[in-house]
Amino acid sequence: MFTLGIDIGSTTSKCVILEDGKRIVTKNLVKRGTGSDGPDIAVKKSLEDAKLSMDDISCIISTGYGRNNFAQANGNKSELSCHARGAFFTDPETKTIIDIGGQDAKVIFLNENGVINNFLMNDKCAAGTGRFLDVMSGILNVDINDLGDYALKSMHPITISSTCTVFAESEVISQLSKGVDIHDLVAGICQSVASRTANLAKRGKISSKIYMSGGVALNKGVRKALSQELNDEINFNPDAQFMGALGASLLAYESLKKNLN
Ligand code: ADP
Repeated sequence: MFTLGIDIGSTTSKCVILEDGKRIVTKNLVKRGTGSDGPDIAVKKSLEDAKLSMDDISCIISTGYGRNNFAQANGNKSELSCHARGAFFTDPETKTIIDIGGQDAKVIFLNENGVINNFLMNDKCAAGTGRFLDVMSGILNVDINDLGDYALKSMHPITISSTCTVFAESEVISQLSKGVDIHDLVAGICQSVASRTANLAKRGKISSKIYMSGGVALNKGVRKALSQELNDEINFNPDAQFMGALGASLLAYESLKKNLN
């Protein structure tokens, strides 16, 4: 039995096809999010990779910002439920999930059975989200994929004092014009995202293991700074950005099983 989970985000569309709720058959990411052709392309590519047709898929669940606008889905689930399910499946020792995506940051607290106890969210301010990193990567002309490597090469990280993306943008431009080392600037930018997220997380009861999901998890500079802020290891794997889609695919399988029983 094949199920498909699709996470339609603000910047990307991620798709995961599972076999029998256990084996990942394929996963695809398209760098176009809600309101674009990204979701359809992600599904099409996934079906092609898996050599399956739509008729082979028993259930489709959508999640993410654009989850209500995907007509092919049989249902939709919140990002919180999907990230929780995906991260717990990936590592059942996960107790705290830090999910930083393109436009929001969430901290999800799980019990030992993977059930959500509590969550905290920043969806009001771009600072502390992937958007902040995207804007800074544009100003510095450093590819988003390379920000982490730049940050790790810094010897003297700069403190970014502005709490707003727009003001931080001017601050970074001003530091650049003073000739500050670009690695130090990038490290400061990653630190700024990490400390905002750590402050959000500290409003709840953080327990180990901490698992990071969402696209910003791929940034080693943010992971290192978060680990220092929280004084704990930040676990992640290269599929961190697929946790929502994986969770949606798992929930699709579980809903089918429930209906069969
Ligand atoms: P959404 O679901 O809102 O589209 P994602 O979870 O896909 O968000 O995360 C998108 C964010 O992840 C981008 O804004 C970017 O900052 C960051 N990101 C994406 N790919 C990478 C990468 N390879 N390295 C570092 N950061 C990345």
